[in-house]
Amino acid sequence: PMNGIIGMSELVLQDLEEGESRERVEMILESGESLLRLINEILDFSKIESGKIKLETERFDLRERIGDTMRAFGVRAHEKKVELILHIDPSLPEEIIGDLNRLRQVVVNLVGNAIKFTSDGHVFVSAQSIQETAEDVTIEFRVVDTGIGISEGDQEKIFREFEQVDSSTTREFGGTGLGLAISSRIVEMMGGKLIVESSPGVGSRFSFEAKFFKGASKNSLNEDEEMFIGKSVLVATGNRLRSDSLQQRLAWHRMIVGSVTDVDHAKRLLLQHAQEKTPVEILLLDALMPDAKPFLNWLVGQNEVEPPKLILLNSTARTDAQIVPDGLEVVQQILKPVKSSELRTAFVVAVSGTETEIQPASNKKRPTSNRKLKILLVEDNIINQKLAVALLEQNGHTMTVACDGREAVEIFKRESFDLILMDIQMPIMDGFEATLCIREFESSRNSAVQTPIIAQTAYASRADREKCLAAGMNDYISKPIRADALHRLIEKQTGSVSKESKSNNDHPSSRAVDWNSAFETVGGHRPLLFELIQVFLKEKDKMLGVVEKAIEAEDEQNTRISAHALKGALGHLGALTASEAVGRLESTAGNSPVDMDACRELFGKINEMVKEVTDEFETFIGKAT
Ligand code: ADP
Repeated sequence: PMNGIIGMSELVLQDLEEGESRERVEMILESGESLLRLINEILDFSKIESGKIKLETERFDLRERIGDTMRAFGVRAHEKKVELILHIDPSLPEEIIGDLNRLRQVVVNLVGNAIKFTSDGHVFVSAQSIQETAEDVTIEFRVVDTGIGISEGDQEKIFREFEQVDSSTTREFGGTGLGLAISSRIVEMMGGKLIVESSPGVGSRFSFEAKFFKGASKNSLNEDEEMFIGKSVLVATGNRLRSDSLQQRLAWHRMIVGSVTDVDHAKRLLLQHAQEKTPVEILLLDALMPDAKPFLNWLVGQNEVEPPKLILLNSTARTDAQIVPDGLEVVQQILKPVKSSELRTAFVVAVSGTETEIQPASNKKRPTSNRKLKILLVEDNIINQKLAVALLEQNGHTMTVACDGREAVEIFKRESFDLILMDIQMPIMDGFEATLCIREFESSRNSAVQTPIIAQTAYASRADREKCLAAGMNDYISKPIRADALHRLIEKQTGSVSKESKSNNDHPSSRAVDWNSAFETVGGHRPLLFELIQVFLKEKDKMLGVVEKAIEAEDEQNTRISAHALKGALGHLGALTASEAVGRLESTAGNSPVDMDACRELFGKINEMVKEVTDEFETFIGKAT
């Protein structure tokens, strides 16, 4: 039913002019969304309570992932004029292994609450290494706010399900009282305990520890970072915590850093350094710092200090035009809360003067395709049928509806489609079985290209999603279906499948790349291959680096593990010769005793082969764009 409530309201809103009716439908949509949140939380909570949830293990980059998660809160914090500061201990390993989604769920809950209950001041989020062994690292996460606080009597209550400090909270701030109950259970599953310390009127501090296995770590600075050593930087923001955090991160890159929280102090330092002939080379300035504009005017107007390169911190993607005077150039802008990778990119640009390709997410255009598609919708629920048909016909697609899996297979045997949207739970024949039948039928006809099938799943747990992919579907979308997500997915699946790529199933191969094999991996789906190759080109140096490091360190186990990953990546993309060579390295590293010289020699050859493969991939990408 949520699909009907949310989807239909969105649809009606598209045609409604401003006015009372529009407001009412907006209220239906908002109520639908909060009901959906409640349902999801209750489902999640009952699953956790009944012990049905296991933590996943995946490798992830903590800085990037938590940075992205915080970014999503940036606008809300800015609107409330609350400073949102993220500090991740620079010494933490690059990669850790654990359940990212569950960790994110806890952090989102804590930060969401912190912003919700703070109207003045800051929310400070940090991750600090507490203990580290060769294999694992214990990290303490903290979310500290300067909000309304929680009295001692209430501090225990809030971890119980459906409890809020007082019932007026729901009216004023919304929420279900389930967030902290779920979070504290998740933290317990991670081996920690969620703790609150708080004083009413002063603020609250939520913290927990969790242990993670360590993934790849960085032992040495890369080329870019070596350029940073000894550069002189001044950090100027209006918030001491933010300044300290940035100072610590930059000092970790061995820059010489000073930090200030008011512009007069900044002026004094700039003048002093100029007089001492140790000028500040880079200025990292918060655009929202009090008096930032007059300070920059002063900087261009005086002639005692050569203006340093300017990096601006901003809360929204607005341009710097409002505060930066003519004659002063902004090298790069960074959005708050600051992500490590973006900070690094900005400094590479400032130090080397080269432009990078990284753009703020808001500038990235998503590819749009105007292709009108023939779509088979397989769905038993009448409301969902109407919704999907209405959404897609609006975009000019032609829809055929099947009410269950068996009907879908019959229709598919008679007609061809550009795309199939497949419900999972249906009477007579479900979506998994229907997909298997469709894939079987395609292979009996020797079709060169499989018709993309997108699953519509009600509750997208990882197991469900994997089951969809294993049954031969290409992607999935979780219900309730949102127009935007659906259109994006359709574009992704069909965006550039051109007629010629459909009929062309013989791809000339070379010594380095067997293209037939590469196309086989992706079921003939050229855009997908294109995407995979781009990922490979981005990742290959890192993968090679890990192997090389393991060999240098004479670490047999890591040589084997890292070689195995590289072998798989090359093999999938048709780089069979290189993949075989890496396979030889993997088995050489598995011999006892290990001949490390042989490993080194093999690695040299592999490097050459990967170069050849890279050239060919780059030509492929170049031709395709
Ligand atoms: P929800 O926020 O959905 O109501 P939670 O379980 O996340 O549910 O929080 C329960 C209650 O704890 C909140 O309603 C609020 O009264 C209190 N609370 C949680 N975090 C904070 C905070 N940072 N500052 C003040 N009160 C908080």
